[in-house]
Amino acid sequence: MDYEVVIGLEAHAQLATKTKLFCGCATRFGAPPNTLTCPVCTGHPGVLPVLNRAAFEHALKTALALHCRINRHTALDRKNYYYPDLPKNYQISQSYLNLGVDGHIDLELDGHTRRVRIHNVHIEEDAGKLLHPDDVAESTLLDISAATRVSLARMTLVDLNRAGTPLCEIVTEPDLRSVEEARVYMESLVSLLLYLDVSDCKMQEGSLRFEASISLRPLGATEYGSRVEIKNVNSMKAVVRALDYEVRRQTECLRHGEPVTRETRLWDDAAGRTAPMRSKELAHDYRYFPEPDLVPVEIDEAWLERVRATIPELAPARRRRFIEVLGLPPYDAGVLVADKALADYFEDCVRLGAEPKTASNWLMGAVMRELNARGVGIAQLGLAPAALVELIRLVAQGAIAPNTAREVFGEMLATGRPAAEIIQSRGLKQISDSAELENIVRQVLEANPKAVADLREGKKQAQGFLMGQVMKATKGKANPKLAASLLAQLLPPAR
Ligand code: ADP
Ligand code: ZN
Ligand code: MG
Repeated sequence: MDYEVVIGLEAHAQLATKTKLFCGCATRFGAPPNTLTCPVCTGHPGVLPVLNRAAFEHALKTALALHCRINRHTALDRKNYYYPDLPKNYQISQSYLNLGVDGHIDLELDGHTRRVRIHNVHIEEDAGKLLHPDDVAESTLLDISAATRVSLARMTLVDLNRAGTPLCEIVTEPDLRSVEEARVYMESLVSLLLYLDVSDCKMQEGSLRFEASISLRPLGATEYGSRVEIKNVNSMKAVVRALDYEVRRQTECLRHGEPVTRETRLWDDAAGRTAPMRSKELAHDYRYFPEPDLVPVEIDEAWLERVRATIPELAPARRRRFIEVLGLPPYDAGVLVADKALADYFEDCVRLGAEPKTASNWLMGAVMRELNARGVGIAQLGLAPAALVELIRLVAQGAIAPNTAREVFGEMLATGRPAAEIIQSRGLKQISDSAELENIVRQVLEANPKAVADLREGKKQAQGFLMGQVMKATKGKANPKLAASLLAQLLPPAR
């Protein structure tokens, strides 16, 4: 029997704000433990939370971009549970009046689009972080007395820097029908969040986390099967591997007539498998109730429209425009659009007069190679669009040969000097003077009688070889078009 895969994903994206959701503490990553805390985010009695407007607007922008219906009267709720890194013993989240509900996102799959429904988008605060002695850096231990250090091996430490960090939770309906669709969904969501500029989506820093639910059902069945929730997946690759593993495991269970237990399972990345964490037969009762310390938020029409107006053209629409209006091949458009900053840079180049496909070739070739080698984004490269456009123009005008251009590009990055200046000072100007080039071509033909004979017999490689010799003799500065036509013209007649 064949089975259909059913997947739903929950994402927690850290909203890109300077301060936490309910207090003025910074949200900076990597600060020493418990240095970004105050009585509010450490859960002291008697303190009052104040909602961060920027965080709220980021979440609203996200809900709008995901085509959600906005609850214009929205409110926060208390989700009660006890956990050592949750000092208040409740998390302020949303349950009854989620900010956004019933949205969707369209995935671009091979040749077709698929709509995935978004169940809800809401805001909540993050918890702190538990540290086990193995993860504790030596610098942290220095602050602890020697006596304490001895017993540290059996301790768990808590760092509340993350407590109260603003998160946006985005929950899909169980609409994904393969692991590949889940992968495309995650990529599309990351692209959306980056384009909206609401989260930096750095999974390695915990600014974006996914939890997946997955079940199988016999093909054609209308009821969903019993589902497993997967936690502890720290990268998109891990989500994909964990889902692949669960598809195999659940298929095996069902083939042997064993029911799949509804439970939460933890992904073990090193072992490449999931293991049960806790069974989830009963729904948790978090005793949600409206948060009494915060007033509900009323979103009026003007506010809604102001936030809506900040939504830029998103990646799928931009990709279509690059293909249809700028004439880029779909592949180029996809690569450029995947990196918003790079796509912005590309548009700057085109606006400054670069031919789109030429600009794309430069960005996808030399520029991206450099970015990958340095592990940086385009903003850190220190090359203004105008500088690259000047180089492109000099090639187009025939001032330098394409090969020389690559050398000039390297020099521009190394020194920050403009292309024209480098060409001038290093004598890299292309040889487009026919008299000068004619001499060189004649010498090459005389020196290579064998290749000349081959060329006369129509052997294509001989042409490439002779061009190579001309380039060598001119240190790559020969105008290739002119050199090729001179080669044809000056080829001595057969004896
Ligand atoms: P809970 O009440 O435990 O939060 P929800 O019904 O809200 O559960 O769903 C949580 C997540 O599980 C959602 O992403 C949803 O799409 C997904 N989900 C629900 N039912 C299934 C199922 N049968 N198979 C796979 N995923 C599911
Ligand atoms: Zn604080
Ligand atoms: Mg949640």
